[in-house]
Formats: sequence, C-alpha cells, structure tokens
Amino acid sequence: MNGILYDGKSKTLYNSDDENSYIMKFKDTATAFDGKKKEELEGKGKLNAAISNIIYDYLAKNGIKTHIIKILDEESVLVKKTEIILVEVIVRNIAAGSFSKKYGIEEGILLKNASVEFSLKSDELGDPMINESQITAIGIASKEELDYLSEQALKINSLLCGLFEKAGIRLVDFKLEFGRSASEGEIILSDEISPDSCRLWDIDTNKKLDKDRFRRDMGNVLDGYRDVLRRLENVGQI
Ligand code: 5GP
Repeated sequence: MNGILYDGKSKTLYNSDDENSYIMKFKDTATAFDGKKKEELEGKGKLNAAISNIIYDYLAKNGIKTHIIKILDEESVLVKKTEIILVEVIVRNIAAGSFSKKYGIEEGILLKNASVEFSLKSDELGDPMINESQITAIGIASKEELDYLSEQALKINSLLCGLFEKAGIRLVDFKLEFGRSASEGEIILSDEISPDSCRLWDIDTNKKLDKDRFRRDMGNVLDGYRDVLRRLENVGQI
C-alpha cells in the first residue's frame, strides 16, 4: 500500500499512483461521541465498504456525482481527490438523536418535511450545528454552494428513502459530506454512506440496525450491519 495521507476515525486515506485520486480504506474501528468511545469491531470495515459501495452505485446510476472511481478490494475504493467542504450535511425524516434531545421531540415522530441542517466538521469542537449565514461569514462555503448542497442532500434523501423502503428499512436520518473535485472543479458527494453515518430502523419493528447499537451499548452491533447488507443485496436481485 502507498503512503498514508490521512488516518481518520473509521477510514484511512492513502496516496494512489495518480495525483488526482487516492485510496480510501474502511477500518474496523468504531467510534462515537467525537472519538471518546472507541472499539475494534472485526469485519466492520468490509461490511461498511460493501454497503457504501451498493449505495454509491445506486446514487451514481441516478445522476448523483460522487467521488468513487472504482472498487479496489473488499475494504478499499479508489476515489477522486477532493478538497473536503468542512460542513456535515444532516438530513432527517424522523426525529431521533440530537434532534430529539435538542428540540424535545420524541424519538420516532415522523417529521412533516425532511429537515436539512449543517454542522461544522470539527471533533475538537464536537461538530457544532452552524447556520448558513455563519458558514458564509467564516468562508467555509458560498451561498450558492450551500444551496447546491441542500438540493443534492434532498435529492439523495428521496433516492435513499426509496432504496431502503424496498429493503424493508426506514431511513431515519443520515450525514453527508461533499468535496470540491480537484480535477473537475465541481462539488461531488464524498466520504461514505453506511450504518455508521445513517440511522436505519426495521420498517415493521423499528429495530435499530445502525451505529446507535454501539453508541447506546445495545450489543450485537454488526448483526444490524449484516442485516442491512443482506437486505440491500436482495433489493439488487429483485
Ligand atoms: P445526530 O445529530 O442525531 O447525532 O446524528 C444525525 C445523523 O447523522 C445520524 O444518522 C448520525 O449517524 C449521523 N452523524 C452525525 N454526525 C456524524 C459524524 O460525525 N460521523 C458520522 N459517521 N455520522 C454522523
């Protein structure tokens, strides 16, 4: 493997042979609460890679521009080099997590519309929520870029709600990251989409199939991830 460019909490980025791309390798490390809770879950990297690859392929086929160039092996993908935009875009369909806590809305309540929010990408500061005027004031992104991120996020939400519904899964909420592509000068979807970055509940029982099992010490974390992968693979075969 080539030199490490960046060692993150759940993925490592390596230089590739081409200056416009790098290798993204999924790790088995599970973290929560900005890295304060940490554990190795053997096999998580492969599961998240497989799930994220199915989702990214589906999004690309439906017109979303993403950073994926090609799948290299069970844990690694070749991705386009981007300058990451330092905000996380969070989309919610159902109240849960920090939304429920902050606004006093019972977990599980269906929201009247999908909500989009931004948080500053900073473990040190605990990824604080940030509004559009603050983002443009600091110079993280322009108003036009933020409008594009919101539009893309809602489009991705519609596509993913459809995909997960076919898999018998409710897409409660999720986090997206975007980057400015170095070679093409456009904004593309980056990072991963997996049970690490989404809340996914069984459509009939509301059983949690995502990282909340780890965050909340519910046990059998990877059983949920395996279930998500199996169901998404089955959707592909319909
Ligand atoms: P909440 O704000 O309720 O904690 O999270 C909302 C959604 O975004 C959840 O699906 C959660 O998994 C995802 N999310 C929020 N922040 C992060 C983050 O820093 N990393 C990852 N992987 N997912 C996040």
